[in-house]
Amino acid sequence: MTTTPVTPIGRPPRTRGIFCNRTLNLRSIRAIGYDMDYTLVHYKVEEWERRAYSYLKQKLADMGWPVGPLEFDPAFIVRGLIIDIETGNIVKANRFGYVKRAYHGTRQLDFDAQRQTYADTIVDLNERQRYKFLNTLFALSEACMYAQLVDLLDERALPEVLGYADLYMRVRHLIDEAHVEGMLKAEIVAEPDRFIELDPDAPLALLDQIHAGKKLLLITNSEWSYTKDLMGYAFDRFLPDRMTWRDLFDVIIVQARKPDFFSSTNSLFEVIDEAGRLTPVRELQSGRAFLGGHAGLVERHLGISGDQILFVGDHLFADVQVTKNILRWRTALVLRELEADLEADEAFDSRRLELQELMAKKTELEFAACQYRLQLQRHKAGYGPQPDEIKPLERQLAALRDRVAELDDRIAPLARAASKVSNPRWGLLMRAGNDKSHLARQVERYADIYLSRVSNFLYHTPFIYLRSPRGTLPHDAEATGIDDTGIDQ
Ligand code: IMP
Ligand code: MG
Repeated sequence: MTTTPVTPIGRPPRTRGIFCNRTLNLRSIRAIGYDMDYTLVHYKVEEWERRAYSYLKQKLADMGWPVGPLEFDPAFIVRGLIIDIETGNIVKANRFGYVKRAYHGTRQLDFDAQRQTYADTIVDLNERQRYKFLNTLFALSEACMYAQLVDLLDERALPEVLGYADLYMRVRHLIDEAHVEGMLKAEIVAEPDRFIELDPDAPLALLDQIHAGKKLLLITNSEWSYTKDLMGYAFDRFLPDRMTWRDLFDVIIVQARKPDFFSSTNSLFEVIDEAGRLTPVRELQSGRAFLGGHAGLVERHLGISGDQILFVGDHLFADVQVTKNILRWRTALVLRELEADLEADEAFDSRRLELQELMAKKTELEFAACQYRLQLQRHKAGYGPQPDEIKPLERQLAALRDRVAELDDRIAPLARAASKVSNPRWGLLMRAGNDKSHLARQVERYADIYLSRVSNFLYHTPFIYLRSPRGTLPHDAEATGIDDTGIDQ
């Protein structure tokens, strides 16, 4: 009998990698919980957010606000930015919380204004009253609208608003309403092709995990009817005959109220029919759908401990941070934007190399200039070893300074271009200048692994041993110290 040799699948492209902060052996994971929106079901961000924005705009117009000319700008906001509601600014901070770029409303703060506002300020997300971290792609519409309304507030066109914080609370309240009211979601369900990006590999990745002995759970904040319609649309067509999305999950939990789900003890209801009728229950049971409840019930039902459960979601706070902090579940963050960022970053590779080479030269020249300068200082003050002659030293120093200035002329445009890679206003998601961004810091603290989409699990199989890289420390390699904002921290 001849058998067809099974060729191993090649390595996936870098964009479809699984990136590891803390070593994770997928073999020792016995259950995987999945979030739905922007995790199992990916939206066409621009379409979805434009719709959400238009609902928000309508609500504001109904209140008599002069929002008519405002348009959604999908590239204006990115995940990981922070709204400073005390000042009406939107900022990007580095891993230490230093602000590296800031907009007031829709205008970028110039260097001096930024320094004046933030020189003494470290953004600390624990200051919840002041800083609002943009945790998910769902935040793009409200943040864009907020920035535009800050402009109107400054023009005194919103007389009843008491200030930037009050403005934020009003916008937040209205976008909350838009999500909850159901009209927006009814549109999504009515025209899923327009709003949902299908991924045929995601259902297969989940099937692989099930057949490798893992129990899967769906834990979403969305309502039953929306979940049913979306999952049916995005998954059923790719599953084997007679199988539906429901068969993939040991337990389905809707309206989970994450992050509270991970920290409190909300009541549990079973969804007893397709129409979503409910009955109160005490425990989870395999093969059924529930509403509410809490993570303790999941652990009890599965009979396993936190580190054998992996939770996969896109909301940095609600899906990942709380899960890790309170329950010590293993965590995976879905960051779809990573694909575009990696592609843009790769396209910039040769120029980055050039920039690094120029910076290395500049560092050498600066080092030499410092030596000459010190000799001149010692000569002037009459202490320490004395040079034989002063004039040549002065000439050398002047020549070095000229060469540094020449290099700066070549470095400046490259550094500026580096700061605009992927997004002209904010640059790469995980970078702030030459450092890690605040988002990157959050990700490394709370997400054991991160990946651009669920189907990346397909390439890496349910058996992968993900090892964190050794990582670099400043003393491992030459630090180039390029800082495109010009603000030294
Ligand atoms: P999950 O990501 O599957 O947990 O579901 C997210 C759910 O939260 C979706 O139904 C969204 O419509 C909803 N959602 C997202 N942002 C907001 C908000 O700001 N207020 C209320 N609901 C939201
Ligand atoms: Mg989600």
